[in-house]
Amino acid sequence: MKKVVKFGGSSLASAEQFKKAGSIIRADESRRFVVPSAPGKRFSGDTKVTDMLYSCYGAAIKEKKFTDSLAVIHERYKEIISGLGLALSLDKDFEIIRENFGKKIGRDYAASRGEYLNGKIMASYLGFDFIDAAEVVRFDEDGSFLGDVTNELLAARLEGTKGAVVPGFYGAKDSGKIVTFSRGGSDITGSLVALAVGADLYENWTDVSGFLIADPRIVKNPKSIETITYRELRELSYMGASVLHEDAIFPVRKAGIPINIRNTNAPEDKGTLIVEGTCRQPKYTITGIAGTDGFAAVTIEKAMMNSEIGFCRKALHIFEENNISIEHMPSGIDTMTIFVHKDEFEEKEQRVLAGIHKVLQPDHIELESDLALIAIVGRGMKATRGTAGRIFSALAHAHINVKMIDQGSSELNIIVGVRHDDFKNAIRALYEIFVVTQI
Ligand code: ASP
Repeated sequence: MKKVVKFGGSSLASAEQFKKAGSIIRADESRRFVVPSAPGKRFSGDTKVTDMLYSCYGAAIKEKKFTDSLAVIHERYKEIISGLGLALSLDKDFEIIRENFGKKIGRDYAASRGEYLNGKIMASYLGFDFIDAAEVVRFDEDGSFLGDVTNELLAARLEGTKGAVVPGFYGAKDSGKIVTFSRGGSDITGSLVALAVGADLYENWTDVSGFLIADPRIVKNPKSIETITYRELRELSYMGASVLHEDAIFPVRKAGIPINIRNTNAPEDKGTLIVEGTCRQPKYTITGIAGTDGFAAVTIEKAMMNSEIGFCRKALHIFEENNISIEHMPSGIDTMTIFVHKDEFEEKEQRVLAGIHKVLQPDHIELESDLALIAIVGRGMKATRGTAGRIFSALAHAHINVKMIDQGSSELNIIVGVRHDDFKNAIRALYEIFVVTQI
């Protein structure tokens, strides 16, 4: 049995947190491959080391004094090292980092040092090999990630190791220039390592006990999700859930490796298991509810639209030309509505309207803003009749008007559009009917 364990920033923010991670790793000898993030926040209001590095480097490129803020970062690592009682010194590393900042070597290099240094500490603490991600995670000259090359490099390097630490978040081009993934990208590194070693499980240790059925800022103490499929997760993450970097699922998904989201501060909790497929019946009809605010809708009306060949294509082309992505597109016989992100749309609004008038000659155009979309997701829906009925009756009882409905043929999710003002109440009403009362 082989497990890859990735620890997020809050799990490694201090010596105390490092010790929790250490005992988790030592408790199971199959936990042989460790991917650490940079130290995160120790308390609310604290600053993540990655952010400290970005701002320190920002000063360096503006030729401002940065050595003091670099010393503050060094201090954070020293505290961890001494708290763990290690005889490790990062003085030389910080000397090199200072020189490289002075040479303005790159913003990605700067950010990557958070993981690099934490990886060194972790390796020394566990007595594992330290493998610099720059040697095994590859990007091309344009900065695009190279999956196959990375997989070969990682597999060759990790073969036969008893225990290894590969820092998350970054890699390098052939030239050696450091490139990072987007923020939260250590999750991706964990997934790449799991694929390369053919792990049985990818454990992603963070500060929550897995995914919750609904956003806890909206629903009080929501229940957590025990098992979720990759497809369900995609539907939910697309609507704004944010425990795991969304690109992290692709490498392990294709190899059928499950991901287990676990809580470093509550290791006894089972967390959420993310799997390709499962026979396990979900406890509730729905697996999760996620919503996003801030949409606008453009409704185009034209008599006989349905028989005008190419009408949709021409309409979509106007949005494409203006570089606006489309979220949903419900339609009627003489109308089509296009949902877009308000932020993206607002500044281009008049150009789009002019384009629609010119190209499509509509009878009427209507704009609506302040809309929210809510996805009700669950593999359990397929086998259950009446899910849509329950959704709409719950919303009707809560006096919420539904502006849009969209159910894919996969029957995995139903998306409803509501007014911004109804957004939170709608989520509460849906949680109530599917989870609390379970009727
Ligand atoms: N340290 C990086 C960040 O703060 C990457 C990570 O934690 O996954 O985004």
